[in-house]
Amino acid sequence: MNQKNRVYNFSAGPSMLPLEVLESAAANLTNYCGCGMSVMEMSHRSKEFASIIQEAEQDLRDLMHIPDNYKVLFLQGGGSLQFSMIPMNLFRNSKKADFIITGAWAKKAAKEAAKYGEVNVLASSEEDVYTYIPEVDPANFTKDADYFYITYNNTIYGTRYTKLPETGDVPLVADLSSMILSEDLDITKFGLVFAGAQKNVGPAGVTIVIVREDLIGFAEKNVPTMLDYKIQAENNSLYNTPPCFAIYMAGLTFKWVKAQGGVAALQKINEDKAAMLYDAIDNSKMFSCPVAKKDRSLMNVVFVTGNPDLDKKFIAEAKEAGLVNLGGHRTVGGMRASIYNAMPVDGVKALIKFMEEFEKNNL
Ligand SMILES: *Cc1c(COP(=O)(O)O)cnc(C)c1O
Repeated sequence: MNQKNRVYNFSAGPSMLPLEVLESAAANLTNYCGCGMSVMEMSHRSKEFASIIQEAEQDLRDLMHIPDNYKVLFLQGGGSLQFSMIPMNLFRNSKKADFIITGAWAKKAAKEAAKYGEVNVLASSEEDVYTYIPEVDPANFTKDADYFYITYNNTIYGTRYTKLPETGDVPLVADLSSMILSEDLDITKFGLVFAGAQKNVGPAGVTIVIVREDLIGFAEKNVPTMLDYKIQAENNSLYNTPPCFAIYMAGLTFKWVKAQGGVAALQKINEDKAAMLYDAIDNSKMFSCPVAKKDRSLMNVVFVTGNPDLDKKFIAEAKEAGLVNLGGHRTVGGMRASIYNAMPVDGVKALIKFMEEFEKNNL
């Protein structure tokens, strides 16, 4: 236990939030900044909420260095609705898209896109249980594709991109759900990025979409109004009632990230945390990481003992020790430690110490 009787929560999502963010929300829960009501109770057209959403957008723009020719949208429907909204809005000429399949989320995105156009799967690491990011040859890219799709960080399998595909004039689209604000990105390399909030930003309910302006305005007439980026952009994410409280919480996290020194400062800490944990795994006689070294995620660290019963024992005993939600995704088993921005260095150290003791007692 740590931080006021809270456990170290290694859940992949919804996941740990910074204690300062939760405490700030708690202090303002019944009476937000003296306005006499909670954020949950105020009109989304009020001047208080206008400041909340505008500040959240500006803080995110500052943190990610988002240029003026990109729109920032706060939407609903999770990362999964973007699997549909992207093809509905971005299929505008050839209606073709290139995909790299690095996991279950990319596969779902490709399946949705195929309902609206032609999906070309350039590479997949499915045969090796997605333990690496496949290399691709730009000679095989579809020259007239409307977009090129990747999952930047693969939450379930513990891989991430370290080198982006060179797609030239074809807009690169990336699912940042489990890595947004964890490392510095050059947003101008992308046509569109998106992330559900519940991994690294706030509670579930809001999804961030950052989209270049020239890609907006191509939805077909039969696309539902709510799913048209143009409508959402023209209305500054206030076409209808947005997920007000989730946006407020995301805004508090953005201020927390700024207070930590910004994304580059957190990236440094994230690299240190991940290196510590991977070193411990690689130096252990009991635990191993199945992921190719060059593609290892900074956010989701996957490891196994090789014995499913021993994995179960580890997960159960870790829980007793206040290190919770260390089970791997239900489709892959083993262990997964999600060490997002909000996971303190001390949490990772506590996990490593526990692993060493477990190994001593069970080898
Ligand atoms: C969690 C996750 C999703 C799905 O997000 P929802 O908000 O539950 O729809 C999509 N992509 C990635 C990479 C994820 O980690």
